[in-house]
Amino acid sequence: MTAGDRGIARTGWRIRPAGLPHPRPKPKELAIPLPTPTAPDRPATAEPAPGRSLQSLRGWLAWGVFVGLHVGCLLVFAVPATGAALGLFAALYVTRSLVLAGGFHRYFSHRAFKTSRWFQFALGWVGTTAVQGSPLWWASNHRLHHRHSDTAADPHSPVARSAWWAHIGWVLSQEHRGVDWDRVRDLARYPELRWLERWEAVPPVLLAGLCYLAGGWPGVVWGFVASTVLAYHATFSVNVVCHLFGTRRYATPDHSRNNLVMAVAAFGEGWHNNHHHYPSAARAGFRWWEVDATYYALRALSWVGLVWDLRQPTPRALAANLAAGHAARQQTSPRNAS
Ligand SMILES: [Zn+2]
Ligand SMILES: [Zn+2]
Repeated sequence: MTAGDRGIARTGWRIRPAGLPHPRPKPKELAIPLPTPTAPDRPATAEPAPGRSLQSLRGWLAWGVFVGLHVGCLLVFAVPATGAALGLFAALYVTRSLVLAGGFHRYFSHRAFKTSRWFQFALGWVGTTAVQGSPLWWASNHRLHHRHSDTAADPHSPVARSAWWAHIGWVLSQEHRGVDWDRVRDLARYPELRWLERWEAVPPVLLAGLCYLAGGWPGVVWGFVASTVLAYHATFSVNVVCHLFGTRRYATPDHSRNNLVMAVAAFGEGWHNNHHHYPSAARAGFRWWEVDATYYALRALSWVGLVWDLRQPTPRALAANLAAGHAARQQTSPRNAS
């Protein structure tokens, strides 16, 4: 990290997962000064910098918050599971999981649809309450995952490293704490998103306070802590399971797989081989039976005008680069027989 970065490219409580759309978009000319970009495809924290000790301190603080939330889950045995607490748990788990999948992943990381500036910020704010870092940090690492999937440069590959590393090791390490500003220049042009990166603690702290007002300590423990930790592991499991177990419809250059169980559990994100084949699509389920709750939610938002221009894979793309077995079935299916 350079001296110019250190005031902004900070660390935080971040966790997580995976890509660059194909091809990588050219950053536009920006009217605002941006932090000096880090070298492409290098962990932002890999560079020596003055003030590194402060950054290291913040990294360890993030580590402490992550571990603390897990330990805090044990409090579910100490507080009553009231109706309000369980309602908050369900509502906040589902809402934040959908925003992580539809907002942090498909919108901020892959620009799979368009929206207004205020709704973009709303997606960023709600996603940041999940304590998985800011949209800038999340997209920075996820684009790196797609660019170098299942190679040594992939931040969380269970193939290149291990399942433990891909699930939680990379989160606990300090290797990927910073934002690579060059990789997210399209997002960093918005000052409010840079504000979220700098003050990523604010949304989750406010949400925890609202949970207290709505349900007391059971509301905090169930509604905020337990649902946050469950969302962590749903997200992390996609990184692991969907690069190890499942089927491969497309012969992508990585080990990505489609996994029905993960698709149901992670709101459509389990159609991961589809997603690696066509990352910029708003949907990961390409067939009618490939359930994709995130896409259904995006469609619903489009009906009321909150999002639009949901990108779809073209028929040509859907039929391209099929894996051997799928290509053979395609050729012998009645529809394709002459
Ligand atoms: Zn992706
Ligand atoms: Zn992946």
